[in-house]
Amino acid sequence: MIKTDFSGIQLPLLGLGTMRFPLRQGSTDPADVDIDKTREIIKAAMAGGVNYFDTAYPYHGSMSETLLGEILSEFPRDSYLLATKFPGHQILSEYDPSAIFEEQLRKCKVEYFDFYLLHNVYENSYSTYTDERWGIIDYFLKMKREGKIRYLGFSTHGGVRFLEDFLLEYGKIMDFCQIQLNYVDWSLQDAKTKCELLKNHKIPVFVMEPVRGGKLSQLPAEDMAVLSSYRPEWSSSEWAFRWLQGIDNIKVILSGMSSMDQLLENINTFSERATLSVAENEALYRIADKMKTTVPCTSCRYCTDNCPMGIDIPEMLSSYNEICFSPSFNIGMRMDAVPVGKRAVDCIECGQCVRMCPQRIDIPKALKDFGVRLEGLPKWADICRERELAAKRNK
Ligand code: SF4
Ligand code: SF4
Repeated sequence: MIKTDFSGIQLPLLGLGTMRFPLRQGSTDPADVDIDKTREIIKAAMAGGVNYFDTAYPYHGSMSETLLGEILSEFPRDSYLLATKFPGHQILSEYDPSAIFEEQLRKCKVEYFDFYLLHNVYENSYSTYTDERWGIIDYFLKMKREGKIRYLGFSTHGGVRFLEDFLLEYGKIMDFCQIQLNYVDWSLQDAKTKCELLKNHKIPVFVMEPVRGGKLSQLPAEDMAVLSSYRPEWSSSEWAFRWLQGIDNIKVILSGMSSMDQLLENINTFSERATLSVAENEALYRIADKMKTTVPCTSCRYCTDNCPMGIDIPEMLSSYNEICFSPSFNIGMRMDAVPVGKRAVDCIECGQCVRMCPQRIDIPKALKDFGVRLEGLPKWADICRERELAAKRNK
């Protein structure tokens, strides 16, 4: 297993994400995890050197922490590294960091967490995390001083500008940051700039969504034919992981492996580092460009000055490309943070922007379609309500 150095401790470059445990046959209930298969996967992970486990309060209908705690308690506490997260990104009537943290310790059957994250600090959850009524950040700094948290960090699906501001304010007290990173989001979510920002603040990167929810594990045959001309033996997933192995400042790459086959293949991919040649990287970026481009916006911003609604058109079109590539409630969450009046649905179809666009994009049409697609996403408030009920049920 490739190791990385994090403040003097050795981390496996491959970590196990625990929001995709195998479910019992025929079940679609996320809480109905196949515990035997999960135990086998975790034992094989430990045997293969994958001893970093990332869970979170809401995963698997709030059962992930409990199941992980149950299985990991069969191992000595210092043989594995455990990370979980505070759900400040969820819409709740109140936030009690102490009650949730104590519950998490109990569920995970541990006295301390090696890594603890503020879950998805982004444009809309920032006010919760910094609300003096809840004292969330102060409480976790106190837990760190008391040794119940070894390293405090945050995950984020926020935009670059938000991350920049957050780092200016809180960068000095954050030990690590988890972001969505893969060769498509390198440009689609501007993960490249996020990595640069984090490096400037000396904050190590932990990676989530390395294969974009499985999408990069199933490349079309024509794309695989191109890649196979370089490395005939590599699978789609291996290409995604090898690309990440060449990115600086990454300490752990989390993969939500839900079968033994996936785990064993990934352990093999992480047995030693292999970086890609310039030509191989370019081949991947060409594939990424094809996947993500519904509208060819170059972010030149020629269109923005004349928009009477003040809509951030390139930002909207970037999210539109993303939703067309793979719809996710994260996009809806991000768009909820855009002020009313400046959203895609607020376009009055005046056509001012179209005249300015060198790419000749039919912007009003794209924004209209974006609004329709956003409407079709599950609503974040509904997801939070369901999660709150599941957390109460599975306490
Ligand atoms: S068509 Fe829509 S996006 Fe374009 S300038 Fe008019 S209001 Fe703004
Ligand atoms: S002018 Fe066209 S290419 Fe430039 S930012 Fe606006 S939509 Fe994108």
